[in-house]
Amino acid sequence: MPEPDPDAGAPASPEERGEEMPAPPEGLAKRVWEPLQAQTVYDLERVTDYCEELIEHKERPVSPNETAGEGEVADEKPPQNLSRKKRRAAKEELEEMSTDELKELSEGELTRYGHVQIRKLPCGPGCKGCPHGPYTYIIYRDSRGKVTSKYAGKASEG
Ligand SMILES: [Zn+2]
Repeated sequence: MPEPDPDAGAPASPEERGEEMPAPPEGLAKRVWEPLQAQTVYDLERVTDYCEELIEHKERPVSPNETAGEGEVADEKPPQNLSRKKRRAAKEELEEMSTDELKELSEGELTRYGHVQIRKLPCGPGCKGCPHGPYTYIIYRDSRGKVTSKYAGKASEG
């Protein structure tokens, strides 16, 4: 009687059984995807719904009280009403753009990226030239949902 092969009866590895988890999205932190792999289908569906809600929240329009800042507002223009996809593409574009590139665009063109505001700013006590400007700013939400602004050059007077 030959020795039985102790490995013969062992269950196949997870790979062999086709039980490997799908690869997580490239570059996503392990601390994010690893706990997800352990969840039930029911909870994963709830997570999916919650993610949708979070995205909606982080992409909500900038409200008037969030556009407040230093100095006085000489003029402002609300953002263009773009589809979610176009708005995201515009945000990516904006984050890559330099002030020099932004200076080339009209106020109307800048509204593609967010709320456009023309401000005059004070510098300090004792200055005879205050307020300075006007300066153009684009106010928008960054990818974390935080309101931020980007300088777009000096605005034309009047
Ligand atoms: Zn000044």
